[in-house]
This record gives sequence, structure tokens and C-alpha cells, in this order.
Amino acid sequence: MFFLRGRRRKKLLETPLSEVQRRLLRGAAPLCAALPDTLRARHEGVMQVLLAEKHFEGAGGLTLDPAMLLMIAGQAALLQLRDGADFYPGLDTVLVYPEAFVVNDEHWDEDGLVHEGPDERSGESWQRGVVVLSWQDVDRESRKRDGYNVVLHEFAHQLDEQDGEADGTPLLPTAAMTERWPAVFQSAFEQHQRNQRRRREVLFDANAAESPAEFFATAVEIFFEYPRDLQRAFTDVYSLLAEYLELDPSSWSEHDAPR
Ligand SMILES: [Zn+2]
Repeated sequence: MFFLRGRRRKKLLETPLSEVQRRLLRGAAPLCAALPDTLRARHEGVMQVLLAEKHFEGAGGLTLDPAMLLMIAGQAALLQLRDGADFYPGLDTVLVYPEAFVVNDEHWDEDGLVHEGPDERSGESWQRGVVVLSWQDVDRESRKRDGYNVVLHEFAHQLDEQDGEADGTPLLPTAAMTERWPAVFQSAFEQHQRNQRRRREVLFDANAAESPAEFFATAVEIFFEYPRDLQRAFTDVYSLLAEYLELDPSSWSEHDAPR
């Protein structure tokens, strides 16, 4: 069975998108349009794997059309371009609601205070194989560079949760990276918490100060959305993410931060 899946994957990885799909993707997700040419074939192949292997489902009356699938898979694929990527093995289903949904949970407000009760969410990642997204937020955040990208955020949580723990450290490919990661991310996380307390204008938002897991998922968003700013503010975080994802968005020419 593994052999068959391997063969099927190999074929999917070699299958390009159609011209129509490419046009839809370019229009819907400028981040994917900014990819250097050398990564395009790989990116399209990873998208084919995700589209074939994951179950995409509209919820709350939403019907998913091909452009929506491309927008989600296209951005999720950005985190799986590296050699040896395993395509979110724990993930079965991507559930998409029309708009932000309400959950009952503990949550942090903008001043860092904890509340219990209903909280509005634009996305969630569950350890048991599900990513939940609000289409309204996917659509808004994918089309412009504003530092927020719910698709990148929730799929980053999937990477983090793959080892069974949402602790801001994903399964890493080398011993050297595994050794460096916790200290680099912990010190950046604490720096961000200090910045928040002093109400300094910072790259990361209040949600990222909540836990190392939220800091990591937000760092992945900023890595793509404002790569040069992240490189300046948290040089080690940028270089570890670049090494892990095998990408350097700061060198993508179309990719200047819009600020
Ligand atoms: Zn999160």
C-alpha cells in the first residue's frame, strides 16, 4: 500500500496545473504568484498531492469552487516545498465555513487579558486531522499582504502538531536544527512578550504572545508576508524558518512589504 501511494504521489508531483488553474491561482493568491520560477513545478506538484489526498469540504452552506480549492492548497503547499516534505500526514480534512465561526474557549483579548466564553475564529487546527477555515478570512487575507494569512497560520499549526505537541517546534529534518530551534524561538517569543507589555509597535500581534505555538504559527505568516521585516527584527527566527522550509522569500523580488 505504501508502495502504491508512493507511486501515485510521484505521478501527482510531476503533474502540472492547467493554464486555467494557473490563472485562477495567480489572481487569487499573489503570494503564490511571487514564487521564483525554479520552485513553480515543485509547488504545482505539491498542490496536486494536497488536492488529491486531502478532503476539502464546505460547511455551513458553503459550496467550494475550484478557485477556492486552489487558493487554499496553493498556500498550504508553500510550507511543503522542501525536500522530504511529507504533506501533512496527520491531516485528512479541510473544513471551510463561509465566515468566522464562534467557539467556546479561553481566549486572549488585545490587551493580553484572558476571557472565557464565545470567541470568534477565522481558523483552527485540530490535532485529529482537521483544519477549519473561514472563507471570508481566507479570501481577504490571501489577496493582500497585511501580515495576516489564516491559511499559512493554520497549516503551520499542523506542522507543529505533527509530533503530538503544539509547542512551537515542528518535526525538524536535522539534529542541528532540532538543537537550535527551541532556544531561538523561545528567546524571540519572550522578546515579543516584552514588546507587547511595553506596547511597542511590533511585527507580531497579541495572539502571538499567547504561547510558543501561536508565536510559531504567526512567525510563518510573517516569514512570507513581511520577510525582510522579520529578517531585520528576528534574524535567527528568519534564518531557521528559511532553513526548515528551504525557502528565502526575502529574495523574491515582487515581494516587498507594502508598508
Ligand atoms: Zn493559532
